Amino acid sequence: MLKVENLNVYYGGIHALKGVDIEVSQGEIVSIIGSNGAGKSTLLNSISGIVKPREGTITYKGKEIPKLPHKIVKEGICQVPEGRHIFANLTVKENLLMGTYLRNDKEKIERDLEDVYNLFPRLKERITQMAGTLSGGEQQMLAMGRGLMSNPDIILLDEPSLGLAPLLIKTIFEIIEEIKKMNKTILLVEQNAYKALSIADKAYILEQGKIVKKGYAKDLINDDSIQEAYLGKK
Ligand code: ATP
Repeated sequence: MLKVENLNVYYGGIHALKGVDIEVSQGEIVSIIGSNGAGKSTLLNSISGIVKPREGTITYKGKEIPKLPHKIVKEGICQVPEGRHIFANLTVKENLLMGTYLRNDKEKIERDLEDVYNLFPRLKERITQMAGTLSGGEQQMLAMGRGLMSNPDIILLDEPSLGLAPLLIKTIFEIIEEIKKMNKTILLVEQNAYKALSIADKAYILEQGKIVKKGYAKDLINDDSIQEAYLGKK
C-alpha cells in the first residue's frame, strides 16, 4: 500500500535519513522504533509532504505520492503530528471539523463524527470546550480524532504517547487498535518501544537515519539486542 525506497533527507549538512526503505500493507499497524533524533519524524514528514527528500521514492497504492501536502491528504494519507498542534482557541467540535476541510460529503462527515465520538467518549462530553483547556491526553485524542475526520486510509501517528501518564498511554494504544479495526492502516512512530511492538504487525528499528532491523513485531519483541537497547531488559 505504502512503499518508501532509498529515502535520503538532508537538513543543510545533516544527513537525517540515509537510504531508508519501508513497506506498509493494507490493514497493518507498522511501528517505527528509535531514540531521540533517529529520524522518525523526518520519515513521517517526508511521507506527508512536509519535508522534501533529496533522493528516493514514495509510492502509495502503486503511484508516486503527490508533492503538495493537501493533495497527499486527498489521497487518503493523514498525519497526526507530534506535539498535537490543535487549535487552542477553537472548540473540540470545531477542531474536529477542521479535519474535513477537503471533504464535501456532508452525510458521511456526520457519520464519521459519530464514530469519532464513539471512539473518544471524552471528546463527546466536551464538544463545546475550548481545545486549549483540554488535558494533554484529551488533546492527543482530539488530534487523532481530527486526523480521522479527513477519512484517511492510512494514518501516520507521531509519538502519540509522548508526555502522557501510564494509564492514558494504555488507553491511547487501545484506541489505536480500535482504529485498526475500523479498516485503517497505521504507521506509528514511537519511543515507547514495548507498547509500539505489542500492538504492531511489523516494525522497523531506526538508528541515526538508518533502518538497522526489521521484522514481525512478535519476533522483535523477543530479540535480545532490542530488549537490551529499547526494552530496558538484560
Ligand atoms: P524525536 O524522537 O526526538 O522527535 P526523531 O527520531 O523524530 O526524534 P527527527 O526529528 O526526525 O528525529 O530528527 C532527525 C535529525 O534531523 C536530528 O538530528 C534533528 O536534529 C535533525 N533535524 C530535524 N529537523 C530539522 C530541521 N528542521 N533542521 C535541521 N535539522 C533537523
